[in-house]
Amino acid sequence: MITTRFAPSPTGYLHIGGLRTALYSYLWARKNSGRFLLRIEDTDLKRNSQEAAEAIEKAFKWVKLSFDDEVVYQSKRFDIYKKYIKQLLDEKKAYYCYMSKEELDDLRAMQQSKKQRPRYDGRYRDFKGVPPEGIEPVVRIKAPHDAVISFIDGIKGEISFKSEDILDDFIIARADGTPTYNFVVAIDDALMGITDVIRGDDHLSNTPKQIVIYEALGFKIPKFYHVPMILNPNGKKLSKRDGAMDVMEYKKMGYLPEALLNFLVRLGWSHGDQEIFSFKEMLELFDPSNINKSASAYNGEKLLWLNAHYIKNASYERIIEELKEFNVDIKDHDKKEVLVDAIRERAKTLVEFADMANSILKPPKQYDQKAVKKFISEESLEILLKYAAFLRIYDKKLHLPVDFEEATKIFMKKHDLKMKQLAQPVRIAMVGSSTSPSVYDVLSIVTVEGAIDRIEKFIKYIKG
Ligand code: GLU
Repeated sequence: MITTRFAPSPTGYLHIGGLRTALYSYLWARKNSGRFLLRIEDTDLKRNSQEAAEAIEKAFKWVKLSFDDEVVYQSKRFDIYKKYIKQLLDEKKAYYCYMSKEELDDLRAMQQSKKQRPRYDGRYRDFKGVPPEGIEPVVRIKAPHDAVISFIDGIKGEISFKSEDILDDFIIARADGTPTYNFVVAIDDALMGITDVIRGDDHLSNTPKQIVIYEALGFKIPKFYHVPMILNPNGKKLSKRDGAMDVMEYKKMGYLPEALLNFLVRLGWSHGDQEIFSFKEMLELFDPSNINKSASAYNGEKLLWLNAHYIKNASYERIIEELKEFNVDIKDHDKKEVLVDAIRERAKTLVEFADMANSILKPPKQYDQKAVKKFISEESLEILLKYAAFLRIYDKKLHLPVDFEEATKIFMKKHDLKMKQLAQPVRIAMVGSSTSPSVYDVLSIVTVEGAIDRIEKFIKYIKG
């Protein structure tokens, strides 16, 4: 069974790079009817891991990716790590190193003067003497000497590290007994039964160290997939300004989770030139061995385009529900569907959607001066007045909801007017600007009474 995991360090929120590797891990597990687990890498106890874990879980709830089993907290597993440190010491696969700070400084200085890579020289590897006093030893693993550590990365192909280049006898437990990062990652991945590790390629250089641990403990080595980074459009590291922010910020900016997931699945993976992937299609088609070998560039325009697509195609219920988050409640509005349809083709985000909805639902507080200058004259005010008067009479006679298109055509014919003489002034009076969805849709939501009010208010405003 395929088992994958997402293993964030609790930095306080989930960022999009993390969500992307989590999505890949999720898809790969679920498409194989496998398991997807969450492990919080909180061995650095200075941070509040509970709060961070909650923030991370909240973000996963929003995008609707679910984990199996209980969340694993590394901070609660120190006893397990201790047991394995003892085992390695007992089996002589690890040893105490009593090097003092001064000795270490001397070694570093010597290596620096010879332009050598800083590395531990193994001086306590086979130490048989009496340990020096007053030194709390660290525990080091006996890494293989002159070996080549290689593995097949599912994305990058064969990766080899010569042990002399990358491995010294690295520390697995600090002087205070706490285990180190690569040690616990390897142990946890093994004990959690992780078969496929999908993670950022910034962890590639950790992998040989983790393999040393796997081998020392006789654990089965998982398959690794190291995913290239997400860069900004200039090929630089993605900064907060470029989009490297808390996933929940995207919610606040009015993105739908399915747009974000679609964006992320394509950011580093492709299936022909297909851009739109429903969740079902992602599950069907995703395969980590098709992840791109090179870094991908974040493209905010594309995310907007995808979001617009998902807004356009969302159900009424969904949009109405989502809009509540942006303080627009149209659940009981009798023209809610007209309103949604009028806006859905134009709004790229739910924030824009809510703004447009508000501009129709509430009378304008101000008027766009440029539009007023361009479209409003004595003559257009006159037309607006006549239009208001016409609507009032038409409405009284009809006893039916007014069809504004029909009514307006009758009005224009009667006064020998063209649509362009009427449409923009009406728009400005209704929503405060000359850009709005279809003027008939706007009017039908505003209703005759509202339209007359808004026209009167506007005329009063212009006349001062
Ligand atoms: N905790 C690591 C991180 O947040 C990930 C470790 C891993 O995936 O192996 O970058």
